[in-house]
Amino acid sequence: MSASPADLVREFHRAFGLEARGTPTEVSPELAAHRGELLAEEAAEVAEVAVHGPLDRLAHELADVVYVAYGTALVHGIDLDAVIAEIHRSNMTKRGPDGRISRRFDGKVLKGDHYEAPDVSRVLRRQGWTPAAEA
Ligand SMILES: [Mg+2]
Repeated sequence: MSASPADLVREFHRAFGLEARGTPTEVSPELAAHRGELLAEEAAEVAEVAVHGPLDRLAHELADVVYVAYGTALVHGIDLDAVIAEIHRSNMTKRGPDGRISRRFDGKVLKGDHYEAPDVSRVLRRQGWTPAAEA
């Protein structure tokens, strides 16, 4: 892909007159609920095809989830790439310095002793967010 999902979704929002913000902002409850519903619809479509496919439909619905998630971030003025980088940084600390990885019975990677939780609040503050309690 030549452009990041964030760039593609920003182009879509501009082309169709959808809301887009440049700084993390709490939006109206109506808009926030609408975005949540859109994302829930797409997540439900993933669940429908997750087990029995077909694979092209699964790929389609996964992409819809990501696209709508990026759009929701844009509506709220969140740079989602930066948040994903922070989640990734945190996830990588699940492996200890000795390289040991502990897993749950189903294969899920567990948090080790050196795990560092993501600090999403710090990421949003760097983007210019002031939590409502501090405003
Ligand atoms: Mg869909």
